Parts: sequence; structure tokens; C-alpha cells
Amino acid sequence: MSGTRRTATNVLLHTALENFYGAAEEMRLDENLIAVLGNSERRLEVSVPTEMDDGSIKVFKGYRVQHSSAIGPSKGGIRYHPDVDVDECEALAMLMTWKCSLAGIPYGGGKGGISCDPLTMSMKEKERMSRTFAARIAPIIGTWRDVPAPDVNTGGQEMVWFMDTISKMHAQVEPGIFTGKPISYWGAKGRTAATGYGVATCGLELLKVLGKEPASARVAIQGFGNVGSYTALVMSEAGAKIVAISDVTGVYYSAKGIDIKKAFEHIEKHPKKLLEGFAGADKVDYDIVTADCDLFFPCALEGAVNEKNADKLKAKWIVEGANAPVTPEADKILDKNGVIVVPDFLANSGGVIGSYFEWAQDLSGYFWTEDEYNQRLMHIMKGNFKLVWDYSQGKKIKMRRAAFMAAIQRVADVTKLRGNFL
Ligand code: NAD
Repeated sequence: MSGTRRTATNVLLHTALENFYGAAEEMRLDENLIAVLGNSERRLEVSVPTEMDDGSIKVFKGYRVQHSSAIGPSKGGIRYHPDVDVDECEALAMLMTWKCSLAGIPYGGGKGGISCDPLTMSMKEKERMSRTFAARIAPIIGTWRDVPAPDVNTGGQEMVWFMDTISKMHAQVEPGIFTGKPISYWGAKGRTAATGYGVATCGLELLKVLGKEPASARVAIQGFGNVGSYTALVMSEAGAKIVAISDVTGVYYSAKGIDIKKAFEHIEKHPKKLLEGFAGADKVDYDIVTADCDLFFPCALEGAVNEKNADKLKAKWIVEGANAPVTPEADKILDKNGVIVVPDFLANSGGVIGSYFEWAQDLSGYFWTEDEYNQRLMHIMKGNFKLVWDYSQGKKIKMRRAAFMAAIQRVADVTKLRGNFL
């Protein structure tokens, strides 16, 4: 039985494999399917020679891993960071397979990146590196093959360089190969707020199934960047009382509730978009994880809730906006304390669903209004929340395990249907 199991020294890949094997065993998934889905279809390494501004050539290493294309084209970001390696890409690609499957969108999972330090590079150096990378992974990416997106240290600018390079290679415009593009160049209205909208929708749906009114919930949100700020906005517009927000500058608390529009106005004026000096709440010096609230949204860092602070958490419910904000050790403590956790790859899937909307619009060449985008996003997020909630209630298991099992089941079913000639 364990002959089909892989082991990995890379911590992220080890965790991804263990999570998969654990859920697969609980589902009693066929051993042959466990063997197939425990491996990636493709792990590509490319060299990326780049002319630096001083005229020297630096050769970076780049990667693209396609874990699965059973359901559709692989989908996942491209990261620029010194720690990027092929195992990290594989772990993240595998998570993308489950995230896209659970989201019910027609994609498999992929991930890529370049091992580099973009913060020390000029724009011109980054452009030359990005264009060479795009050309080198070109044989395996495509609108119907593998559709990359932004990730850590990449954004709209990199997507434009990638798309422009591939479009020139193909001598035609290729908008459907990359998502996360600027609105002015084949991007989609609504994408900026999509992840936070989805996270907040999960929070509101959770309150609904628990029979609570949003106005009765005191909410704390860690991180006031892209995900945290829009989560806060949507929750406050729904009537919830936001008692604590935080960013890298500290924790801001008000028992009366914080005016989130004012917090937005504040960060707009701040050169680095931070809460430093925000007058709409008291700056406090404790960990926001321990804030007095009912519903906590960790939307900043991985490992924010860990074995050191999990026992001190006052919230009864957590909705994970960030990726992996609760460690496996903390998860066990929360479970023992009866805390309900809505897992990351359900809660923050608004981002990848938004990418799917961009791709769909690019394929048809017809663009939706922001309102249409948000309505469709809400509809999908609510359906996915219900699917996982009902599955977890029916099987009496945690939402995280239920989400994994539902996600793996869809990929396993299609893999079985199509056979192994993939
Ligand atoms: P961001 O860079 O826009 O914001 C991060 C926020 O966290 C900032 O407000 C920053 O000040 C704050 N922060 C950093 N260190 C902190 C600390 N020690 N304590 C408190 N706050 C701290 O990033 P983002 O796009 O909002 O992403 C946040 C998380 O959500 C990441 O884990 C990311 O991988 C995940 N995520 C993002 C998206 C997306 O579409 N942006 C989609 C899925 C998952």
C-alpha cells in the first residue's frame, strides 16, 4: 500500500503530499488513483540568461510544474523569489489542482517561478528576464494547455511582458494564456477586490448557517492589503462590527467598531498604503490573533495562528483569507476548542475564480461590467461554501478535510473517466 507513496524533503511538498495521502485514505480512494495523483504530470526546469544593466549575463533558473490537467488547462501563478525551486512549485501546483477543482472551474493545477531577487533588479533587467522566461516555457503553456497568473513579486506588468512575448512569437494577439493582466490590456474589472469579496462571502455564509446576523458579529482582520482590506469592506457593508484591523505597522482596535471607509481613505494617503497613524481606532500592543472578537480573518501571513497562540484565540470562528495561516499543530488545538475553520483553498478561491472570469472574457472578446463580475463571483462562492459545509456536516468532519475530499473526488472521477493516457 505505501509503495505508491512519495516522500519529500522540501517542507511544503511534504505537507502537500501528506495532506493528499491523508484525505485520499479517508476517502478510500483507489490505490492506482493515489499513485497517479500523487505525482505531477510535468516538472520543467529552464535556464533564463539575462543581460544585466552592466552588460554582464546572469543565468537564472526558472520552473513550471503542471501537477494535473485532468479537468482542464493547468492554472497557477508565477513567483519571483530567491527561495523558488522545483519542489516548492510542485507543492503549490498540487494545491492549485485541489483549489480549482473545489471551485468548480475547468482547470487543473500548475505553478512556476524564477529563483531571483527582483527587489535588487531594475525594470529593464526584470523585463529581459521575464521575456526570456516566457519564451523558454512557451512550448508547454497555452490558452488550452496551461494558463499562468501573478504570484509573489509578479503582477500586471509581468503578465503584459509574458503575453506580449508569446503574442510576438505566434504573430497574433494571445490574451488567454495569462490572467491578472491590467484592465487596460485584456484584464477584467472586479479582479482587484475578488479575493476579499470571496473571503467575506464565506464569512457571511458561515454566519448564515450558524443562524447569526452579521450585525451581531464582532470581527477582527489581520492584514490590510489586497485581501484583508476588501474583506473588511464587504463585512462592514453587510453590517458586521469590525473591532480590530492590523497590518505590518501594528494592531488597531475599537470596541465601538472601525469605519472601514475611513481606513481605506487613510491608506490611500499613506505613501506605502499602510495604517500607520490611523486615528479611527486605538493602537494596541497585543497579537491580533488574541483580540476579543467572534469571527477572525487571518489575511496576511502563513502560520499566523500557531501552537504558541492558538489556545489564546477568543474567536469562535476563523475564515482563512491568507494561504496556510493556521499551522497543522494549531489546527488540532482549535479543533479541540471547538473553533470552526473555513479553509484557505475554499475561502480565498475568489482570486482564481476571478482569473477564470478574465480568461472567459478574453476567449469571447466580450467584457462584463464590474457588477456582473461580482454577482457571478458571489453566486459561485456561496455554492462552494454550501457544498463544503454540507459535506462536513454529513460526514461529521472538519471543513478543511471536507474541502480536500470534495476537491480530490472531482479530479479522481475525471481521471478515472479519461483513463491514464493523459
Ligand atoms: P498584500 O501584500 O496586499 O497584503 C499583506 C498585508 O499583510 C499587508 O497589509 C501587510 O502590511 C500585512 N502584514 C505583513 N506582515 C504582517 C504582520 N507581521 N502582521 C500583520 N500584518 C502583516 O497581500 P495580499 O494579496 O493581501 O495577500 C495576503 C495573503 O493572501 C497571502 O497569504 C496571499 O498568498 C494570500 N492570497 C492572496 C490572493 C490575492 O488575490 N491577492 C489570493 C489568494 C491568496
